[in-house]
Amino acid sequence: MQYSDRILKTPSSFIRNILKVTDAEDVISFAGGLPNPISFPIDALKTSIDHAITTNGSRLFQYSSTQGYAPLREYIAAKYQRLHGLDIQADDVFITTGSQQALELLGKVLINKDDGIIIEEPGYLGAIQAFTLSEPTFHGVTLENDGLNLEELEQALQQPNVKCVYTVPNFQNPTGLTYSKEKREQICEIVAKYDVVLIEDDPYGELRFQGEALPYIGAGKLANSVLLGSFSKTVTPGMRLGFLITKNKELMQYIETAKQASDLHTNIFAQYVIYDYLANNDYMEHVQKIIGLYKEQSQTMLDAMAAFFPAHVDYTKPDGGMFIWATLNNGASALEVFHQAMEQKVAFVPGDPFYTNKTNVNTLRLNYTNATPEVIREGIQRLASIL
Ligand code: PMP
Repeated sequence: MQYSDRILKTPSSFIRNILKVTDAEDVISFAGGLPNPISFPIDALKTSIDHAITTNGSRLFQYSSTQGYAPLREYIAAKYQRLHGLDIQADDVFITTGSQQALELLGKVLINKDDGIIIEEPGYLGAIQAFTLSEPTFHGVTLENDGLNLEELEQALQQPNVKCVYTVPNFQNPTGLTYSKEKREQICEIVAKYDVVLIEDDPYGELRFQGEALPYIGAGKLANSVLLGSFSKTVTPGMRLGFLITKNKELMQYIETAKQASDLHTNIFAQYVIYDYLANNDYMEHVQKIIGLYKEQSQTMLDAMAAFFPAHVDYTKPDGGMFIWATLNNGASALEVFHQAMEQKVAFVPGDPFYTNKTNVNTLRLNYTNATPEVIREGIQRLASIL
């Protein structure tokens, strides 16, 4: 059979593929990116499922609006007004099937074949995958400790037909890095000079365990700003609920058309249930519990790395989120180390799939949210013995 160039060019998810081997029971895996299931509010969701059905009946089971359940959009708008001082109204919010779908819709709406997308290097591989379906040219811009490299950003913006800049400003996937306030302001100033959409993908922003929350780069400042959010990391990923926020009405209309073509609307049952959950529970208190858990896990991993890793390994120290990023300064290939590590029954993600144009890299991603402190220490010790 003949397949489209589009799909032939799109990488299948490296992580989902390696999870097939790393998920064996005796393997200590730092490879996944799953939220800790302890953080799912199962009892409260059970109550909300009953309550939402009792209150709304058949509406939970009927087709629904493409933009999403209005009370849920109002809740999200009010939250961004309250917490970020942004002028967001319910009509500026669009509910998607996870924020992952928002990435695919943006690709469909903005990108012609070979148009430019500026992306962090290393960047979120799910975004690389979603955008690749639109056959873009990626312009990787080095992600430094405090955000994008500004010279590279400016240079990339001057390339032909660049349509958007994709960033994860808080506790980035895969590095755990957070953009500084200064870098955010500088990036906003630079991007404002060009006719491009600035995408800020922020599924981890609420999971800050140290330091102060920072203003978004472009949200509330740039006309062509798009902010993405998700309930995956704070309530449940399985319900597949994310959202896109933009004040650009024209862009919103095209997103709606693309969404109609894709799946008509996001699962309305899930939208009613999560709204009921949010309206009747202390969400902030729930998030605080997750923060407490991840703070302890990240500190345990960092302490173990400080105690056991050789001096030639550098690593990030995240202020929140789910990941640590390590660099092997002796030039070792992370993929080779991965194979050796699997023999010792410890797993991580080699950096390769997070780059759009590099292979055999010396970087790797470690996830700390899915293991107990004892297991984290044991896994890091095993890894250290290989490094
Ligand atoms: N963006 C980033 C940066 C992510 O890390 C993830 C999840 N791994 C997503 C988007 C997708 O999240 P979801 O579709 O579950 O909302």
